[in-house]
Amino acid sequence: MPRVFSGIQPSGELHIGNYLGAVQRWVALQDQHECFICIVDYHAITQEYDASLLETRTLDMATSLLAAGIDPDRTVLFVQSHVPEHTELCWVFMAVTPVGELERMTQFKDKSQRQESVLAGLMSYPVLQAADVLLYKADVVPVGEDQVQHVELMREIARKWNARYGQGFFPEPQALVGEAKRIVGLDGQAKMSKSLGNTIGLLDDPESIWQRLRPAKTDPARVTKNDPGTPEICNIYELHKYFSPPKTIEEVAQKCRTAGWGCLDCKRVLAENMAAALAPIRERAATLKAKPDLVREVLAQGAARAREVARETMQGVRERLGLLVPGEVAAPS
Ligand code: SF4
Repeated sequence: MPRVFSGIQPSGELHIGNYLGAVQRWVALQDQHECFICIVDYHAITQEYDASLLETRTLDMATSLLAAGIDPDRTVLFVQSHVPEHTELCWVFMAVTPVGELERMTQFKDKSQRQESVLAGLMSYPVLQAADVLLYKADVVPVGEDQVQHVELMREIARKWNARYGQGFFPEPQALVGEAKRIVGLDGQAKMSKSLGNTIGLLDDPESIWQRLRPAKTDPARVTKNDPGTPEICNIYELHKYFSPPKTIEEVAQKCRTAGWGCLDCKRVLAENMAAALAPIRERAATLKAKPDLVREVLAQGAARAREVARETMQGVRERLGLLVPGEVAAPS
């Protein structure tokens, strides 16, 4: 079975953007792959964050993932900092990664431009990503287009390390770029993202979904109910495609073009369909939230399974690096 590795930031509960864009895909991959899903808390600390919220956000993310269908019997779900070999291997990889390669990463260039003082952690983020994936010798990394460059760097790091320390030790993982699902936020412009405040929470109740959808941007040509619109340029129509049945999607397009209904009517139907589609996830999340120890236990078991693989990889790495094996402490006589 091919092995898959994916990481997600501990940003609290999932929103429908990361559910449709990534998590739904991971749930499907569980059937035919050996999956490792990691909540990457060490990545999260490379940017401004609130330390007092990190623990809660990590648990909320784990709860959301389990509620969304990640099955701990089939997927190793764990927290990055619970497996210290990630940062250990990152350091090993730093020793073979040219700084120039890191400086030309598009995401680094974007983010560093917005910072007064650029932190080394931001620059070395892709090296930690390489360690995350190669620690488990994963074959496949499901990514969006914006992460393909980072998978190429992982392959480059694997090649450089293998060339110096042992051909074939690390496989070169493949990027699995699925059908592009770039979920646009409620502002109708940018990718859905918590930091932009343009999201709908995956666990939101029906009333909250409606309150979020009601002011969402639509086709600006529809100033009044009588102005016809163009569904293809409206994000509400896009969202209907994920949550409404085919007949409704057709009806939306037709009523939009002919001004057969207003945008609020259209959004009301979307809100109802979305709330119904997400109801089972919301219910599973409520059950999990009532038993927080269960989520912690799943993460502990996941970390134990991950560490078995991570320890074996690091043992091979240490041997190839020529490090002294630590001696035993003699028992007092
Ligand atoms: S009717 Fe629906 S698809 Fe058309 S502009 Fe309004 S919200 Fe968008």
